[in-house]
Amino acid sequence: MSSPKPSTIRVGRRYRANRLDGPYDAIVIGSGIGGLTTAACLSKLGKKVVVFEQHYTAGGFTHSYDRNGYEWDVGVHYIGDMGADHTLGKRLFDHITDGQLKWAAMDAHYDRIFLGDKHIDLVAGPEAFAAELKASFPGEEQAIDTYLKYLKQVAGAMPGIVLGKVLPNLVSGPFRALAKRRAPDYLNRTTREVLESLTDNQELIAVLAGQWGDNGLPPAESSFIIHALIARHYLYGGYYPIGGASEMAKTIIPVVQQGGGEVFTYADVTDILIEDGQAVGVRMKDGEEVKAPLVISNAGVFNTFGKLLPENAPHLDYYREKLQHVKRSMASVCLYVGIQDTAENLDLPKTNLWIYPGPDYEGQVQRFLDDPEHTDIPLTYISFPSAKDPSFAERYPGRATIEIVAPGPYEWYEAWADQPWGKRGDDYEAKKEAYAQRLLEKLYEKLPQLRGKVDYYELSTPLSTDYFCRYEHGEIYGLDHTPERFEQDWLKPKTRIPGLYLTGQDVMTCGVVGAMIGGLLTTVAVSGLKGLPLAKRMFVG
Ligand SMILES: Cc1cc2nc3c(=O)[nH]c(=O)nc-3n(C[C@H](O)[C@H](O)[C@H](O)COP(=O)(O)OP(=O)(O)OC[C@H]3O[C@@H](n4cnc5c(N)ncnc54)[C@H](O)[C@@H]3O)c2cc1C
Repeated sequence: MSSPKPSTIRVGRRYRANRLDGPYDAIVIGSGIGGLTTAACLSKLGKKVVVFEQHYTAGGFTHSYDRNGYEWDVGVHYIGDMGADHTLGKRLFDHITDGQLKWAAMDAHYDRIFLGDKHIDLVAGPEAFAAELKASFPGEEQAIDTYLKYLKQVAGAMPGIVLGKVLPNLVSGPFRALAKRRAPDYLNRTTREVLESLTDNQELIAVLAGQWGDNGLPPAESSFIIHALIARHYLYGGYYPIGGASEMAKTIIPVVQQGGGEVFTYADVTDILIEDGQAVGVRMKDGEEVKAPLVISNAGVFNTFGKLLPENAPHLDYYREKLQHVKRSMASVCLYVGIQDTAENLDLPKTNLWIYPGPDYEGQVQRFLDDPEHTDIPLTYISFPSAKDPSFAERYPGRATIEIVAPGPYEWYEAWADQPWGKRGDDYEAKKEAYAQRLLEKLYEKLPQLRGKVDYYELSTPLSTDYFCRYEHGEIYGLDHTPERFEQDWLKPKTRIPGLYLTGQDVMTCGVVGAMIGGLLTTVAVSGLKGLPLAKRMFVG
């Protein structure tokens, strides 16, 4: 393994107090895709918006970094619905990037689910998807057809959920109650309950729930809402941003700048300023106070209500009580791998691999948590960005990259949480190295041609997730997507604190498009009637 050289990818403008150019109409705390979506949409509605990002580069989980002549993404492996111009996700991306972001389709077999020695593929397009499953599970045709019907019904129930988040308080309660009555009764049951009502074939259930890592909860714990949204999101195939994930922030920032705004990096917000019971601005780490009539937090509800608001903020007790009803999502490790050869020569697929020891997902996770060293890794996810990105070979000639994600509870690394990044000592490095070797073995098992070829690798832990993206326990999807989470009517853009709004994945759901829809809803909530034509154009076309 060669020694690491620092990252050079930097998107956004480095913050200095004397570079501020206020007054601003709105401040966005955090440049995740949710924050950038709100910033770009507001900019297009004529507002001057400043975004403050604490990291050295913009994008949150959509940032990329390069080291030692390789480049990796941290939280973007594939995006669904980018193959047609009429989907909400594609319309939104086109809107906030002025159509500058381009997409490459993955293989039609976008996800491959390994259950022990067998594997079954998820194939793009509802007909091909069903045909592949029916060929693998004869006798289960009806269960598969009903499953696809359920995915459609969940999509049909979404306007009820989405509208309930932006309607004024007086009407949103009754509206939510009505939407709930009209929604299918299985909507917010657990994924496992719903799938077991369709079939008792545990292998089929495991294949259908094989993307559970995309929301971080095994099927017995997740709401069927998030399962169905993700499964349907990818049903027409997976797509990858040409040029890598950092192209998202790169193409959105000019839109914010055209509105007179800016996206600052190294811009750490320490406090939200409250005056007369109202949010009026933020204080930066250097002590600078920046004022604006709208403060929009993309920093997640645990940071916003647990850390950024002063004790005199109104309704703090209300929100701190509410935080008891949501949990932080799973934490993970990621092995970033570099090889000095091309994806083509190495025969790397444009298919994500989901590797499970067998179909008992919940049991495998529990046994692993109880005895990690002697139990097989319950979920290993392998993605091949250099194979998916048609521009990679030109940008990094003769090189290929791989990303391997696996569960990694925060508690395993907590002992080193107070030590500085990059200098956590030999014990920490040894613990990482042991896990890295296990993950490399998983890779070689599926792609034996790679053994002996790896030039560089490094493992991120939940401490890295906290350090770079500010998730205190390394949670990779914000809040857990349990049925209880979907009952929380306070998870919406407008807070009870005048002037303070939320955006991003905690408002809606995890996932790049989930966080963007959160960003759109925040725009609508902030803009009132002025935002309605935009909402109509995005949701209806
Ligand atoms: C390993 C992994 C793989 C994933 N794979 C996929 C995938 O393939 N497809 C997909 O659709 N989704 C994927 N996701 C999920 C997706 O990336 C996220 O759900 C989404 O990007 C979250 O966006 P966000 O705007 O809500 O928040 P974030 O991206 O988390 O952004 C929040 C930002 O706020 C900043 N911030 C916090 N506090 C402060 C402060 N005080 N001052 C200044 N800035 C602050 C943070 O630094 C961060 O940049 C993945 C996530 C991970 C971690």
